[in-house]
Amino acid sequence: MRHIDLRTKIIKTALSLNETGLSAGASGNVSARVPDIDGEGFLITPSGVKYHKLRAEDIVFMDMDGNATGDFMPSSEWRFHLDVYKQRRSAKAIVHAHPPYGTALACLNKDIPSFHYMVAVAGGKDIRCCKYEPFGTPELSAAVLEALAGRRACLMSHHGLIAFGDNLEKALSLAVEVEVLAQQYQLVLQMGAPELLSEQEMEDVLHRFWTYGDNAQKVENEKRRKPRKGWTANVTYPKRTPFYKRPDEKDSL
Ligand SMILES: [Zn+2]
Repeated sequence: MRHIDLRTKIIKTALSLNETGLSAGASGNVSARVPDIDGEGFLITPSGVKYHKLRAEDIVFMDMDGNATGDFMPSSEWRFHLDVYKQRRSAKAIVHAHPPYGTALACLNKDIPSFHYMVAVAGGKDIRCCKYEPFGTPELSAAVLEALAGRRACLMSHHGLIAFGDNLEKALSLAVEVEVLAQQYQLVLQMGAPELLSEQEMEDVLHRFWTYGDNAQKVENEKRRKPRKGWTANVTYPKRTPFYKRPDEKDSL
């Protein structure tokens, strides 16, 4: 069996959908792009199998023409995974789920606006909700891709949410982040209409995220880099001055 590590990670991520509250039971699905060198395609969770019963060999391989190889049928929602991989080269892993707060907003066709700076975590100034189309259809893929333009996550009308990333860990953590934002937004709406951050303020946050991302990527690329034991910051502290000064004799006059 090929890609045993990737298959195991997909199962681990699928189990995390349950643990993080992103998905109860077997709703939602997880996939990861297979390296091009091994024949382009992706691995995806099968249809209707409970995550805790999944074995590595149950994960289905699909090529970029949508042909499946495996003992089980792929998730019935494989089509938008395929189309995201086709259109977004940076998508290496995808998490899709029907979590309570993200889905509740999506059932009202609401985008998540710039009520909080972390909205930029999905790559833009807001997190869009795509229009409703039936699951498994090319129309749903088109709607999802439109809402994902310039973003790595979106809500799906009357359905749920989708997030992608450089790897399974990042796709999962982005999905969790979007669900938390959806929850916070609903809490805010209960108290009133929030003042939104301006275009310029969100531009600034995006710029900071990109810079932060560059640094994080550099550290990730340097596999040898590990925190050293007894590590201390290379900072020289100014000579400490007492907060209270004893009054000298002149002061006391
Ligand atoms: Zn779904």
